[in-house]
Amino acid sequence: MESGTSTRSRIPSVDEILKTPAAHQAVAGFGRPRVVEAIRHAAAAARRAMGAGEAAAPGAEVLAADILAADVLAANALAWLEADARPNARAVFNLTGTVLHTNLGRAVLAEAAIDAATVAMREALALEFDLAQGRRGERDSMVRGLLCELTGAEDATVVNNNAAAVLLALNTLAKGKEAIVSRGELIEIGGAFRMPEIMARAGVRLVEVGTTNRTHEKDYAGAINPKTGLILKVHTSNYRIEGFTKAVSGKAIAALAGASHVPLLNDLGSGTLVDLARYGLTHEQTVAEAVSEGADLVTFSGDKLLGGPQAGFIVGRRELIARLNRNPMKRALRIDKIRLAAIEATLRLYRDPDRLAERLPTLRMMARPLADIEAAATRLVPAVAAAVGPDFAADVIACTSQIGSGSLPAEVLPSAGLALRVVGTRGKGRALAALSAALRALDRPVIGRIENDALILDLRCLEDEAAFVRNLATLQREERR
Ligand SMILES: *Cc1c(COP(=O)(O)O)cnc(C)c1O
Repeated sequence: MESGTSTRSRIPSVDEILKTPAAHQAVAGFGRPRVVEAIRHAAAAARRAMGAGEAAAPGAEVLAADILAADVLAANALAWLEADARPNARAVFNLTGTVLHTNLGRAVLAEAAIDAATVAMREALALEFDLAQGRRGERDSMVRGLLCELTGAEDATVVNNNAAAVLLALNTLAKGKEAIVSRGELIEIGGAFRMPEIMARAGVRLVEVGTTNRTHEKDYAGAINPKTGLILKVHTSNYRIEGFTKAVSGKAIAALAGASHVPLLNDLGSGTLVDLARYGLTHEQTVAEAVSEGADLVTFSGDKLLGGPQAGFIVGRRELIARLNRNPMKRALRIDKIRLAAIEATLRLYRDPDRLAERLPTLRMMARPLADIEAAATRLVPAVAAAVGPDFAADVIACTSQIGSGSLPAEVLPSAGLALRVVGTRGKGRALAALSAALRALDRPVIGRIENDALILDLRCLEDEAAFVRNLATLQREERR
């Protein structure tokens, strides 16, 4: 007890600590109030460590002497401030093999979109201003023309995301009425987007038709009545029903809807504006195809296959889009000028499909040749092996990537990467978890996936190899400590 009191009294005062060079440096970087707070933290931590140390062991004397120096406390405070200053929104290396990873922010934007967004952030722009007439204009006009051109639709609007697009369309066309959906299409996608719940929130009564695996035209026809507000067709984005199945084609549903004067809403989910087969991927119905087969409205995402910022697009018949725009919900679901600018720039890239795979990162990564990824794996294996040290074996492996975010769920892309495995047999699981935690703790966190006792780093989405290798150097230092 007595020694506890005396050591405590030997802790330098905040003013003394503030006079050290490390504290001066901290004040220059973070400002005096933050530094004073950090010094109080450091002093409190030292006091706690001393208390614990004295109770524990004779070696505590050494520890106490070390902790008590004013410059050590200042350095601790500076280190704490620096660690705390790392932005939460910092870049990570997505080596998960999932190109559009919802938890990692989905699409990485094209340079043109980044430039446009930067201008929109920095400058005033004609967001809702008609430059030709010199009077108030409409927010959507920034992208409406491009959306119509690329989809063949009469009109278009844009909201916060595709979930919002579906909500707005349902609420506008079928509030207080019924919406007919096939049982095989009552989807739940990640992040609690469940079609039946969205319908309830939109004030729409769900009428399920058909069975899980089979829905016929007569099922739709039998459900149409005067209370029907719309027919909804939903892309089964993240699953596939195989075997004894039947779904009614979009064309047939459109014909039925048209004959009954009921609008058809087609939620395409990901939605693509180009024929993906052109880039060596599986053909996915394009938005233009969905429009031309007769859907009255088509909804799709901005940050899935399209490769832009988070957004939800609704394209289709002019009078229906006009009704959506009059719904007060539209105002609550609208998007900001930064994303609108980025969307416009992204859509413009689609005018030149020949160079799209070069300019649009999502497509570039999806279409990246296997040989190119394999070569990257071979180049990087020595640096990674050196960084992880002798406790781990690093090997080039064949693996498979996926597109993610419910886009082309059945498509697997042959890829290449590195497998990191624990050498020896004891404590394998823990060692692998520790390595994966250490990689996530790097200045630029590296996110892989654990599979069959190995940490897999899929290199499909790694474009800056030099930055990756530089970043690994910090792992080496931590391992040696
Ligand atoms: C992804 C998806 C949505 C939701 O889109 P967000 O842009 O994520 O809001 C809705 N419907 C389907 C079919 C989807 O695949």
